[in-house]
Amino acid sequence: MDFEINKVTMDEEFKICPLCGYKDGFHSMFKKEGDVTKWLFICPSCHRVFDAGFTV
Ligand SMILES: [Zn+2]
Repeated sequence: MDFEINKVTMDEEFKICPLCGYKDGFHSMFKKEGDVTKWLFICPSCHRVFDAGFTV
């Protein structure tokens, strides 16, 4: 899998896509990096991937 991960910092909520403005939240995906599993978010509209700093 090869895709760009866009780093975001979360304020009070993370619901609106900063790249396309889609307002209804995100799909989830998980990606292993060594010992940590990152919890990533995919915009259902523009399909870009975001990392808000969460791990599982
Ligand atoms: Zn989007």
